[in-house]
Parts: sequence; structure tokens; C-alpha cells
Amino acid sequence: MKFINLTRRTEIGANCYYLGAGGQGVVLDCGMHPKEVGEMALPLLANLNGLPVDALLLSHAHLDHIGSLPVLMRQQPQARIFMTEPTAAIGDALLHNSVNVMTREREEVGVIYPLFTHRETDRATDRWQHCRLGQPFTVDGERSQARPNDELSFEYCDAGHVLGAAGIILRAEGRTVFYTGDVNFDDQTLTKGAVFPESGIDVLIIEATRGDSPLPEGFSREAEERRFAEALTRAFDRGGCVLVPVFALGKTQEVLAMIYKFKRSKMIGDVPVYIGGLSSKMTEIYDRRANQTARVMPRLQLFPEVGPFVLNGKTIADAPARPGRIYALSSGMMTPKTLSNIFARRLLDRPEHSIFFVGYADPESPAGILQKSQPNELVSLDEDEPAVPLRCHLDQFQFSAHASRESILEYIKKVAPKKLVLVHGDVPAIEWMRASAAAALPETEIIVPPPGVEIEL
Ligand SMILES: [Zn+2]
Ligand SMILES: [Zn+2]
Repeated sequence: MKFINLTRRTEIGANCYYLGAGGQGVVLDCGMHPKEVGEMALPLLANLNGLPVDALLLSHAHLDHIGSLPVLMRQQPQARIFMTEPTAAIGDALLHNSVNVMTREREEVGVIYPLFTHRETDRATDRWQHCRLGQPFTVDGERSQARPNDELSFEYCDAGHVLGAAGIILRAEGRTVFYTGDVNFDDQTLTKGAVFPESGIDVLIIEATRGDSPLPEGFSREAEERRFAEALTRAFDRGGCVLVPVFALGKTQEVLAMIYKFKRSKMIGDVPVYIGGLSSKMTEIYDRRANQTARVMPRLQLFPEVGPFVLNGKTIADAPARPGRIYALSSGMMTPKTLSNIFARRLLDRPEHSIFFVGYADPESPAGILQKSQPNELVSLDEDEPAVPLRCHLDQFQFSAHASRESILEYIKKVAPKKLVLVHGDVPAIEWMRASAAAALPETEIIVPPPGVEIEL
């Protein structure tokens, strides 16, 4: 069995992996790097030259997993494309949004942008095939019962994380490989935890996002939700508003579900909530597909129950920071020119306002920089704008959509695979996972796959 890590570095960037067995091959995910631009944002797709590529299997619709898919489809027109139905609905909307963003950046980046067009995205989505959880398929799209077991087949299973997210069980040459994609083993406020196989796995390819951050002593999501609700009330008592930078997919809907709970149990008053345009599209998909996913609150419809107001790139210009309101705006990392970045710059030097972080931010992103800043320090969130002294209130909460490192390690121990492949983590995170897994499972071969290099599994 051949495996190639097609990401450019050991990091959370443009996730993409190749698996070849018995003369057939599949590509697992095809992401776009959130911080790079142009060609450098793509995975190492040229390394696929000369290899059989029969199918492209997508784990979920976050852009670091699906963002370059139309480019790969152009290069591999013979390959069939598989994903869950909710991932297809979300991916369609996110890729079109990504064309708009790249078109706006064309002046800065050059004629290479956009890397794909709206029309190409439409043609691409027409060819996507939907996989039900627990249904085995072969790479030619047939159900795989009663087939010779050396043929490559695969099956999707629920990964928690966000709507539509799935791990992929692959079988070939009499062996079983399991690619987790992004996973959360615990229930979030809305999305239930993963339902993953725990035995019969020879090779486990698993994410390591949170490998360098230990779970705080005595942590529980319920207690963290309570701390969040109390902090919101205190923020409103200071006479200000609260900005919560969020990812459009996943974190927005989890925050809306928390606000719903807080209001119902009178933990906060009936405060108005604002979200962005892309987040509102994602929220509509969450509502429409509520029955296609395992949920803590299966019947909750976020739009009618929470009634968020929607801001976009135009209306944000005139949207004042009103006291007593929650602005749950994307992007989560506060990338320059996004709603959360524009809005945050209005709050920074005003002590009555607050910014609450609720998830992962790359340490070099504006959100990461702000998290580390000290009161009264000059902060710049956009190099095109003047720096201002930090006077607003900051707080951080742990509502990650990724499994804790402790629960990932627990799962690795249960599975006890012959080979363990560590992906989707920065170097310190991968290192912690490697050392901890090696101590727990001395029989297991642990592989940190070097970028672009073909290895034998
Ligand atoms: Zn993800
Ligand atoms: Zn990811």
C-alpha cells in the first residue's frame, strides 16, 4: 500500500493525502491553505502524476479539506468524487464564496486568481456522489457487497466535528485503513460526538490538532457554557457589546445553539444577535438538514428560534457597535477585510466593549495576535490600518470542534493499530501525540509522513 502526504508542510494547511493499493488509488481530501495565496495555497497535486487516481473522497466541507477540489477535478477528470450529502450542500456554498473572495484578491495576487470559477464549481458539484454513513462503496461508485476483497472499497462514518463530517474506512488487499478527517469524540452544544470503529483497523490515519494543548483540570463543556453565559451578562452590565469571532461553518451554529439555551434558561436576557452573510447560508443548511445528522437538540431550528440579524460586507460599514448585543461574526481567525476583523477594530480602544474567543486561532493570525496582547499595548489587526491601544475586554473559552488530545490518545489506545499515521497538526502537536502514542503502544509503528514523499504502509 502506498501513501503520500500531499500537504506542503507538517501543519494544518491544505490537507490532502494519496492512498494507492492493488493498482487503484484514492485522494483523501483536497484543501486550500487558509494563510497562503496562489499556487502555494494548493496541495502538492503534481506529485499525483503517473499514479492511478480512481476516486476523490472528502471528509467534510471546511476549506482546509475541500477548498482546492475543483482544481484537482480539472487535473483528474476520470476520478469519481464522494462525500456525505450535507458536505455536498455546504461545500457547494463555500466554494462559490471562495471564488468571490479570490476574485476580490485578484488585483493583489495576480491573474492566477480565481484558481477556479463559478461555472467550473457548478460543473464540479454536478458530479459529486453522496455517501450514506455505514454504506460500503467501491471506487467506481457501486455498493461493494459480494466483491473480491482485494478491490479498494470505502465506507463513511460519523465524525462529530461539524454537520456532514465523516471518517473514511478503506479496505484493500485484505487490510483496513481508517482516515479520521477532523473528529470530535464529545458532544458539542448541537453536534453529537463521533461514532467510530474501535477494532479491526490495521492502519489509523488520525488528526492531531490539539496535541499541544492539554485539557484544563476538571474541564466540562457544561461548566464552560455557564462561564460563557456569565461573562456575557457581565459584558452587557459594562454597557458594551460582545464580538465573538467564529468560523461560518460549525462554530457559528454552536454559538447560536448556546445563545438559544442561555435565553431559554434565563441565563442571559433576550439580546439581539448578529451573524454574517455566509454564516447565515451555513445556518440555513444546518436547519434544513437537521434530520441528517446526530444532534443533541434534534428539533432545534436555529433561524426561527434565535432570529439572528444578518450583516454583510456592505451593511457592516454602517453597523454601529450597539451595547447589549452579540456579534458572532466570521472569520474565526479575524483575517483582514473579514467582518470580524472590521468590527473588532471598532471595539479595540473602547473599554466598555468585549471580544470573546471560542475556538482555535492560528498564533500568527490577527485573532491569535490579539489573544496574546496586553492591555494598552498597540495592536494592529490589519496592516493597511493604524494600530490602536488595546482597551476593550478580552476573554477566551474552550469550545473547540476538535477532539481533546487526551480523547484522541484514548481512541488510539483502544484501536491499537499496527501502524499509526499522524496528520493535521503543527509540529509540537504531532510531537506530543507521537511521544504519547509510542509510550502507550510500543508495538505500533508510528509514522509522521514527510510532505511529498511516497511511503509504504
Ligand atoms: Zn474541520
Ligand atoms: Zn481541518
